[in-house]
Amino acid sequence: MVTVWPRRLALVVAPVHGESFASWVDRMALRNGCPPWAMVEALGLDVATSSDVRSLAYGVVATPETYRAIEAATGVSAEVVRGMHLAMFDGSVLDLAGVRVGDKESVRRAESREWVQFFGSRACPQCLAASNGAWLVWWKLGWAAVCPAHRTLLVDLCPRCRVSIRRGPAGQPARLSRSRMPDPLRCGALLSGFVCDQPIPQISTSAVSNKLADQQRLVLEVAMGRRPALIAGQVVSAGQWFAVLKATAMLIRLGVPEVLPLLNVTLDGQGALAAEAARQRWNRAGPMGRYGTAPRTALVAATLLEVALEVAEAEGESELVARLMPLAAAARMRWKERRPDLLTQVALSPVFAAALDVVLGGQAGRQ
Ligand SMILES: [Zn+2]
Ligand SMILES: [Zn+2]
Repeated sequence: MVTVWPRRLALVVAPVHGESFASWVDRMALRNGCPPWAMVEALGLDVATSSDVRSLAYGVVATPETYRAIEAATGVSAEVVRGMHLAMFDGSVLDLAGVRVGDKESVRRAESREWVQFFGSRACPQCLAASNGAWLVWWKLGWAAVCPAHRTLLVDLCPRCRVSIRRGPAGQPARLSRSRMPDPLRCGALLSGFVCDQPIPQISTSAVSNKLADQQRLVLEVAMGRRPALIAGQVVSAGQWFAVLKATAMLIRLGVPEVLPLLNVTLDGQGALAAEAARQRWNRAGPMGRYGTAPRTALVAATLLEVALEVAEAEGESELVARLMPLAAAARMRWKERRPDLLTQVALSPVFAAALDVVLGGQAGRQ
């Protein structure tokens, strides 16, 4: 088979450090004066077969050939191009092992399971203003809660149209447009008959504590493999570390509302957890799945993060048990005899699994 590399592009925009692939393509499209569809085709992705972003696993994963084709077209190294994809978090905060380009269902399955927005994003309005519209890839993570640089909560919703930022029309990811030019600094939600033009840099945000900003930084460093992951003082893999955070989040959610007054978080945070529990909805993951789904808002993510990290940072095994105990007690009041099995389904670190066994064993009983 003869590989035909895409033609080298004359106008290349340098990616901003940490920028997402879709953001970079949008800025390249603007620079080249062509809509995103044509830009993506010029980069060597197979948009002729399908311009459906799920089918392309757009910005999620790409094949090594695609990374190399993009390098050939732009001069931006294949490694940097991969770093703009969610693939960079595979094995730490995300499990993308089953996701394949061209297999829409594999993308959909991972989308409903993992704590991430494949095609949407939260945003820091100030970072967007400062970078003139570069969207960071980590803003897509379910654990993306606050901007560590600006110490503000990330934005979920457009205040003008009340649509989640970059959610796409009718909750479906937006297709790569063949005609419309992107506008990285505006909401751009397609509403009945018009496009929302809310400037994102003008959206106001709430300040957060330095502690939360530091916690977010820690999460990102573990996710990027820049710092060892510790649970109760023991080194675990990044994958296990995030599994522990997720299991703790499930335990917290199981105990709402009884657990709320026990949490060392803001009243706003408690309110957000209560509101999330109140809008219990059926979802693909099944009746128990809602405890394990990605936080719906940055505030919920921040609140879960704060408590889960406090648990993870216990100094030893007995302190870990002590920190889990009140959460488990509150959760037990809710589940009564029908204890969900979720906590045993994730790949937990042995130290955490043992502590969980202590706090959940005994009275609750194994089923
Ligand atoms: Zn920021
Ligand atoms: Zn809007």
